[in-house]
Amino acid sequence: MTVKLDEKLEPIFQDVLHRNPGESEFHQAVHEVLETLGPVLVKYPEFADKKIIQRICEPERQIIFRVPWQDDSGEIHINRAFRVEFNSALGPYKGGMRFHPSVYLGIIKFLGFEQIFKNALTGLPIGGGKGGSDFDPKGKSDDEIMRFCQSMMTELYRHLGEYTDVPAGDIGVGGREIGYLFGQYKRITNRYESGVFTGKGLDWGGSRARTEATGYGTVFFTHEMLKARGDSLDGKTVVVSGSGNVAIYAIEKAHELGAKVIACSDSQGMIVHEKGIDLQTLKRIKEVERRRISAYTEYHKDAKYVEDGNIWSVPCDVALPCATQNELNGKDAKMLVENGCVAVAEGANMPTTPEGIIVFQDAKIAYGPGKAANAGGVATSALEMQQNASRDSWTFDYTQKRLEEIMIDIHKNCYETAAEFGAEGNYVLGANINGFLRVAKAMNAMGVI
Ligand code: NAP
Repeated sequence: MTVKLDEKLEPIFQDVLHRNPGESEFHQAVHEVLETLGPVLVKYPEFADKKIIQRICEPERQIIFRVPWQDDSGEIHINRAFRVEFNSALGPYKGGMRFHPSVYLGIIKFLGFEQIFKNALTGLPIGGGKGGSDFDPKGKSDDEIMRFCQSMMTELYRHLGEYTDVPAGDIGVGGREIGYLFGQYKRITNRYESGVFTGKGLDWGGSRARTEATGYGTVFFTHEMLKARGDSLDGKTVVVSGSGNVAIYAIEKAHELGAKVIACSDSQGMIVHEKGIDLQTLKRIKEVERRRISAYTEYHKDAKYVEDGNIWSVPCDVALPCATQNELNGKDAKMLVENGCVAVAEGANMPTTPEGIIVFQDAKIAYGPGKAANAGGVATSALEMQQNASRDSWTFDYTQKRLEEIMIDIHKNCYETAAEFGAEGNYVLGANINGFLRVAKAMNAMGVI
């Protein structure tokens, strides 16, 4: 790791390494938080005495189970699934499910750990958790996806509940998968428990603006960071990595706020369209036809497709990493800064490597970590839970307004916390400390549990 830890925190980190071998993403996520907590222990020595940090680093419960399913030809496959119920000091465990072949315990633990602080930052009553499977939904038929989801829920349901653990989507899990998962939960439990899952369809308990929330929220956060520097998104050139749920709606809101998004990508290549990415085409390719991003050039001859292209080499004012973890390294960060990038906000979770973060911080550009910048998704999930609990359904405009207010509030809290701890403009420190203090105070009040 690149930054040295405070002497009280180093042994805690060594213990995390020892207890969780081989889980490099989890180690990275823990280190990133511990790097900023030194001054907190000086101000709140009781948190050291009560071993709050050691307790936060150990999940309350970890569930690993087998998911057998049959493909369309009758062949049997066996996947592994996880649900890590990390921390429930502030509310029921809350966090998405990821379906991707790279999923293993270390990925789910890093995501669950980040989720604790992100959820705390929203100010809403939700704890932190995460789940997923090494199942690869790419190339599977609808029926295969349904059989997999039903098999997974046949085990998972016993661990869920609107007051216990409330999953949602993430990479590879969108509206279709949530429908199959919720349907099987309803069938097994014989309960129409809407608040047990978020990201549901609008006709059966979903919240308006949830689909858009993470991407929109990331752009609202970007706008706030720029405003704090007397600048705005209007007229800015933007590059967005990925072309999934978060990326698509980040592009939509960036365009609405007067910016021009000129490049986006998927795991095989990138599209550069100097005239501005056409959102209708992108939505058709990704949300309806479920094809590769390379298909974009069939509709726009003036756009360029670069197989395996590095999207961070495209000069821009603002960069929004919205694909996956560790997708932006130190070299990429240098390239962005040298090309004049003034702001980076993370729609994805932990997309910037520790080396990349140092480059952004040394260059003093506005850098919004995922914990804060992409919290709009889970915040709107909590709004979905509120609507379900009151058997109500809000308008798109009202929900979006609430989302915007929450993002403005998160930005303000991170900014002010960073200033209070003598690091004005350092959103990493502001987000970690603000989120940590909310969780730590609640844990302290509840005793040693
Ligand atoms: P998604 O709809 O499945 O889209 C993921 C996008 O990232 C796709 O374009 C995918 O390309 C690309 N991608 C995935 N793995 C990749 C890899 N290893 N290398 C390069 N590209 C890769 O997922 P999403 O919901 O937008 O999530 C994107 C990120 O946002 C994740 O980090 C997620 O944890 C985070 N996030 C999501 C939400 C939410 O509400 N959905 C909330 C907070 C944070 P291919 O199609 O080619 O794989």
